Amino acid sequence: MRGSSPISYYKSAMTTNAKACVVGSGPNGLAAAIVLAQAGLHVDVFEAEPTPGGAARTMELTLPGFLHDFGSAVHPLAAGSPFFSALPLKNYGLEWIHSPAPLAHPLDDGTAVVLERNLADAKSSLGADGDAWVRLTRPFVERWSELASEVLRPALAIPKHPLLLARFGVHALRSAEAIASRFRSERTRALFAGLAAHSFLGLDEPLSGAFGLLMAIPAHAVGWPIPRRGAQSITDALRRYLETFPAEVKTSSRVESLAELSRYDVTLCDVAPRQLVRIAGQHLSARYTRRLERFRYGPAAFKVDYALSEPIPWKASECLRTATVHLGGSFAEIAASERAMRNGEHADQPFILLSQPTLFDASRAPAGKHIVWAYCHVPNGSNIDMQQRIEDQIERFAPGFRETVLARRVFSPADLESMDANLVGGDVGGGAMGLRQLLFRPTVRQYATSTNNLYLCSASTPPGGGVHGMCGYHAARMALSRLTTGKR
Ligand SMILES: Cc1cc2nc3c(=O)[nH]c(=O)nc-3n(C[C@H](O)[C@H](O)[C@H](O)COP(=O)(O)OP(=O)(O)OC[C@H]3O[C@@H](n4cnc5c(N)ncnc54)[C@H](O)[C@@H]3O)c2cc1C
Repeated sequence: MRGSSPISYYKSAMTTNAKACVVGSGPNGLAAAIVLAQAGLHVDVFEAEPTPGGAARTMELTLPGFLHDFGSAVHPLAAGSPFFSALPLKNYGLEWIHSPAPLAHPLDDGTAVVLERNLADAKSSLGADGDAWVRLTRPFVERWSELASEVLRPALAIPKHPLLLARFGVHALRSAEAIASRFRSERTRALFAGLAAHSFLGLDEPLSGAFGLLMAIPAHAVGWPIPRRGAQSITDALRRYLETFPAEVKTSSRVESLAELSRYDVTLCDVAPRQLVRIAGQHLSARYTRRLERFRYGPAAFKVDYALSEPIPWKASECLRTATVHLGGSFAEIAASERAMRNGEHADQPFILLSQPTLFDASRAPAGKHIVWAYCHVPNGSNIDMQQRIEDQIERFAPGFRETVLARRVFSPADLESMDANLVGGDVGGGAMGLRQLLFRPTVRQYATSTNNLYLCSASTPPGGGVHGMCGYHAARMALSRLTTGKR
């Protein structure tokens, strides 16, 4: 089964058997390839690495039989993606696993704040802040699919749901600090700090509140699921579906120059702006090249993958109910950690994002053994070793953690980039996310370039980072529309 094509219009409009290629097989590259293939184009995808998926790959990074996510691990945006949701990915092996609750946030008193998926449960578990939490999130939880189609596309596009977007916009421009001030309890403020810290922004910066909400709302609307067997399952399902069309993913095929691709009618690049300049160099206008060179990359991740002999010995047993755990203590501590990173420094007690998938998916480690994925935020290109600080933070909430470690694999920002060229300086989001690069990403042209029939479709285009495929989807639709109308 192929599912219904959202773009059959283009198919009937195609006059020839046009050939397209996509450079890069991350979620956005594969999404773009599917849109093009659904429209009737023959599509080749060129992937530099031996395995497709970019930052959505799963590999034996520590010991045999331990299947770690190289990049993405927890997938609210994939589960809530308007494009992925329209594809029959379940038929191609994608199965979502929901832990009993999406997220736990342990505190020093040995308890944890838990974000429950069901809003009524969240209301009671957040106590004095339950009503405020529901008032803040419910209008958007109930209309997630409409909100997702608005926020997961170019910010300057004409909205289909202007009132909903305006309502969201009231909160969106505020800082996490401003939004958290409506909560009475330090526990709820800490929870919101962890959600907003996904933005890689300072928690007193505009837009940081929007990111907090864009993590909280899908937690209730679609959950924070993990794919059975890891992120590779998302990639494999996309690839298998793609290859039901006249399309092929060619791995270990790094594209060094656009000249290699002259036989294609249209080329979409799932690459960072810096690489587009390298690959397409002389084909781009000098002005456009300068703009791409001015693109700002975001802060980086310092990541450690662990193979464990047993589950993490959390002080707060509630942490065993959730696939994701945020470590960093209070709002003030998390804000200080993110401020240090924004100032080019390294926090002594960094905010840690941690995933423990084997509590809910035994297929990813030998019987009784476990894997853990953990990272903190560091300045772009940092070469400071954060391993001890990450482990100290885990020990703070789970004494004895180090004794459970069978093996570990450390990824500095440079290590991340060496396995996926799009992770420039260790930037996991495809570029910094301030107001300017939200609106003009990577330039005012967005997906289009200064060259006819050459497009960008990576997380460096709207709507930005995360596994949702919407950059690829929108880029491919623009490419098709221009191909059929002949518009430049
Ligand atoms: C450590 C980490 C943790 C993350 N956690 C999450 C998470 O939990 N949830 C979530 O939703 N998102 C997460 N993300 C972000 C998410 O993975 C990315 O935003 C997403 O993968 C971007 O997709 P993309 O297709 O734009 O680029 P990528 O996934 O980076 O794919 C780009 C692909 O292009 C290939 N390529 C580049 N240049 C060339 C070339 N010249 N020739 C051929 N191929 C080329 C690369 O090899 C790569 O395969 C995480 C990322 C990282 C690194």
